[in-house]
Amino acid sequence: EDLEDNSQLDRNRGPPAETSSYIKDSPYTSEIMSKLHLFGLEKFRPNQSEAIHAAMSGADVFVLMPTGGGKSLCYQLPAVCQGGKTKGVTIVISPLLSLINDQVQALREKGIIADSLTSETREGDNKAVRSRIYGNDKPSLLYVSPERLQISESLKNTLAYLHQRGELARFVIDEAHCISTWGQDFRAAYQELGKLREDFPGVPIMALTATADERAKSDILHGLKLEKPAIFAQSFDRPNLFYRVITKTNAEELAKYINQSHPDQSGIIYCRSRDGCEKLANQLRTKGLKAKHFHAGLDKTEKEATQNEWKRKQGHIIVATIAFGMGIDKPDVRFVIHFDLPKSMDGYYQETGRAGRDGKPAECILHYAYRDVQPIRNMIHKDQQTTHAAKTRQDQDLNVVVRFCTNNTVCRRTQILQHFGERFDDSLCRGRCNNCAEKGSRIQTNITEEVKTVISLVQTLERGQEKVTLDQCRSIYKGSSASAIKNKQHDRLPGYAAGRHLPPELLDIVFHQCIHLGVLEEKPVQNGKWHHNYLKLGPQAATFLREDKETLVDYKPKTPKSTTAGKKIQGPRKGRNAADAAPQKPPERLQELYADDDEIEWS
Ligand code: ADP
Ligand code: MG
Ligand code: ZN
Repeated sequence: EDLEDNSQLDRNRGPPAETSSYIKDSPYTSEIMSKLHLFGLEKFRPNQSEAIHAAMSGADVFVLMPTGGGKSLCYQLPAVCQGGKTKGVTIVISPLLSLINDQVQALREKGIIADSLTSETREGDNKAVRSRIYGNDKPSLLYVSPERLQISESLKNTLAYLHQRGELARFVIDEAHCISTWGQDFRAAYQELGKLREDFPGVPIMALTATADERAKSDILHGLKLEKPAIFAQSFDRPNLFYRVITKTNAEELAKYINQSHPDQSGIIYCRSRDGCEKLANQLRTKGLKAKHFHAGLDKTEKEATQNEWKRKQGHIIVATIAFGMGIDKPDVRFVIHFDLPKSMDGYYQETGRAGRDGKPAECILHYAYRDVQPIRNMIHKDQQTTHAAKTRQDQDLNVVVRFCTNNTVCRRTQILQHFGERFDDSLCRGRCNNCAEKGSRIQTNITEEVKTVISLVQTLERGQEKVTLDQCRSIYKGSSASAIKNKQHDRLPGYAAGRHLPPELLDIVFHQCIHLGVLEEKPVQNGKWHHNYLKLGPQAATFLREDKETLVDYKPKTPKSTTAGKKIQGPRKGRNAADAAPQKPPERLQELYADDDEIEWS
């Protein structure tokens, strides 16, 4: 099956906190406030006002803000003010034509003169734009693609003309991390932007990105030759998003959930493969949901039609590969569901970041199934197009995602933000992730003995040169009486039925923990034209048996009251039952959680 890739231009990482006091005694306050209403907004989000004031004062500005944080306003608003230190046309360099078109259209709807020059601009439009620039109706903002800026002599002349007349207000470099050779989003034309400083001395530069990776940040500051920039960075936490990881369900359950929890609300469901998207969208439609698929295999008109319908109407669902979403700015997306594993935490943050851009509560649900992991891994390694280094990175990315999915203890916000280098205090989550919300209903239990038994079982099988899959091994351990097991006399093995007392969810956890600990491995073996994943001892097996490493896991029993399974295996060891407190039912509806929460809106 086809995995899709896109250059993830709005990936995010954690911020260093730097503050500034550009607002104090600012002469620009009244004009800025009056222009805010032009944009149909009432108040600023964090750092917007500061960045705008800094821009008006003529400084170079660097804005680091998560996706959906509101970076555009930071340059659009100064562009329509008269009172700042700089006057004239604001040149915005933006990497995507769709983003440019959306923004120009939105600005024009507000009565702001905005133009664009890209590879798509037709000759007639080109002339019109030029005559506006050379005439009296100069646009407040002119959007250009970096490639156009690089190659078009006439555009260079136009900029020089404006510069001579002191009518170049500033250069804005949106998605500025595209300048960095470290990231996946590197764009050669962005590197040329380093020349702006020399070619247009005295014109301030504003760079904006959602990528806070230190290397990217340094590339931006140096590459664009920013001078004493005012830097605005902030937490990457998205307080209005509820993060949940659940055991993967099926189309039917999913439809039921959406119908119950998100009736007539807009959402995105991400799947890995194109086939998967089409199939799931189909299944959801039969359950009465307005679902459509979207992937890179659709032709341009199909893509646009699907995207536009979803964008304009309410209550539509897009079932998409990660090809969908770049530059999507729909404020009222109420849920983002990953029905398959995301490729990386960066991807996960970016994709979930498309929910709740209006600041109102939204939900992000990741459906995790252990059985999904190995096929993805196989696919990574099978791909002949990718280099060894890229495979290793994809493998590591996947590991991080799996670790996130299987860590049912630590606050999900803490885990996500930690990935971006930001420290987050769990207590601030206040039940807005399933790990925090379900704290009371989880049981901690000691599975050291179980792991040892499974290791011995696999050891015995290996000695007998027998190959079994994880599922087969689980059946033996569980004590299945299937004929396949009888036929192979697996019911005579020492570990047969040793796990008969475990509830299924804990049985799974024992095996996944074995893999996670590296005491077992799944090894793909080519068998004719099929790949089979056989279980074998992992590098940590011997150490584990020798050192008797205590293994505690957290899990949520299917029926919260019956804690017998957990107790049975706790034995005399140190495992403690974390469910002392009465199991606390997680809120059914998000709204309950937010009922008296005053921190949801970006203040
Ligand atoms: P970014 O570029 O940082 O991803 P955008 O500039 O595209 O974010 O803004 C994301 C959304 O937030 C848009 O729908 C925008 O209208 C909205 N928005 C921006 N600033 C504000 C504000 N101060 N108040 C309310 N909504 C805002
Ligand atoms: Mg943006
Ligand atoms: Zn939490």
